[in-house]
Amino acid sequence: MTDTQVNAPARRTPVSTDFPDRLIRGYEAFLGGRFSAEQQRYRALSEMGQKPRTMVIGCCDSRVSPEVIFDAGPGELFVVRNVANLAPPYAPNNDYHGTSAALEFAVMALRVEHIVVLGHGQCGGVRAYVENEHDPYMRPLSPGDFIGKWIRLIQPAHELTIEGSNEDIGAYVERLAHESIKQSLANLRTFPCVKTLEERGLLALHGAYFSVMDGRLLTLDPATGVFGAVSADVHVGALSEPRF
Ligand SMILES: [Zn+2]
Repeated sequence: MTDTQVNAPARRTPVSTDFPDRLIRGYEAFLGGRFSAEQQRYRALSEMGQKPRTMVIGCCDSRVSPEVIFDAGPGELFVVRNVANLAPPYAPNNDYHGTSAALEFAVMALRVEHIVVLGHGQCGGVRAYVENEHDPYMRPLSPGDFIGKWIRLIQPAHELTIEGSNEDIGAYVERLAHESIKQSLANLRTFPCVKTLEERGLLALHGAYFSVMDGRLLTLDPATGVFGAVSADVHVGALSEPRF
């Protein structure tokens, strides 16, 4: 194999410009299933507007849809998803703050009562941060790139967890993902509206972590800082294969 062959990008088939057939079939399934069952609810939500009680800050990862994990219907969850489910600190300036804008709308306009930062196992965003720490020349995580800048929000959690770390990279990524959820909760509390409403008992913040591998859900105990399993007995019963 020559150097040219080694460096040549994999040949890809041009994509169709048609609207994806998979989405059309999915939409038709939705019409025959969920929409059919919830038509009245959609109509009522259209007339009255949305009034979700919970905001979820989740990851873009295609495996961790909050509506699926929490079996939520239309109008129940106000969801913002970004790379690695990060909440930035309060920073009112001229940058484009998509997550902060969604947070402001959820808290001030919709008056949600709960905000859940939902992390997950095998998060590519958290892993990219860790790999980039090992090799700062990796692309596309240079400081000028969007992902590289965005996932620097993980840095405070990394600095808290890296000392004395001797586990393999996979285990460290999972531990850092937990710590990063706590950091995002701390960042949320830098928003004056969040801090004030939480102090008045009108808003509650939560950390949660979904294991893609086995469907386990963990929630953060704010008193101990430890994540613990939710509905463990129901989860065991739902597994199709016995655990060992
Ligand atoms: Zn992720």
